[in-house]
Amino acid sequence: MLQRTEGIVLRTIPYGEADLIATYLTKDLGIVKVFAKSPRKTKSRFGSSLEPLTFSRIAFWGKEDAALPRLTQPRLTQADIVHPFSSLRESLHCFIRVSELIEQTLHLVPERDTGRNVFPLLMNTLAIMEAGCRNPLIGLFYKLKLLEITGFLPGLHSCGRCGGRSNAFHLSHGTVLCLQCSEDEDISSRLSPGVTAFYSSLMKWEISKLDRLKPDEGIVKELSLLLDEHSRYITEKNLRSREFKRT
Ligand SMILES: [Zn+2]
Repeated sequence: MLQRTEGIVLRTIPYGEADLIATYLTKDLGIVKVFAKSPRKTKSRFGSSLEPLTFSRIAFWGKEDAALPRLTQPRLTQADIVHPFSSLRESLHCFIRVSELIEQTLHLVPERDTGRNVFPLLMNTLAIMEAGCRNPLIGLFYKLKLLEITGFLPGLHSCGRCGGRSNAFHLSHGTVLCLQCSEDEDISSRLSPGVTAFYSSLMKWEISKLDRLKPDEGIVKELSLLLDEHSRYITEKNLRSREFKRT
């Protein structure tokens, strides 16, 4: 079946001498991996459309089952660039920041999952970062929204079991737990009072207005660290359960 959609190149992996496997975040089909024949040859019809972050109109041909081995992956037949986002690749500083967001996306969003629409979030974020990627709140906002969309948002406001007050975050539960509910379990971190307030306001904010927020640097760092640890924990748990299913 021939499928058409629009997508952003998240990653490419060389395959054989001249071929590539490209991972797209698409508008309609979630994350899709496609096989691209000979894009690494100089006169390829794909031109530069397979550069990471390039937004293109694409068409591919093949089966839909993501679990099939690589060679039966859908084959890319067309990729017309809509917006290259080349400035994000040309600045090393920006590219490092964007790459971190892409990596988290690949870790948290399962392939072919159309129920979690990450596409508009990434498009908006790339557009904002293209205009200037110095503001660390852009990345933080993206990570927070990605966790919300994928259903992994950490609970920072009240005990995840009884709803009582607490500032003791437990990584293994993804939430704060009060003294009564946590028994002997180790606390991963104690949240500063400003962190939960900042977390709430960031959740309600708009990405286009992030430059108006002027939070305390220490609070931004604390929340960033917490979200990164939380995401890493979820990713490792996901990987373990996938391996368990395979064995
Ligand atoms: Zn409790």
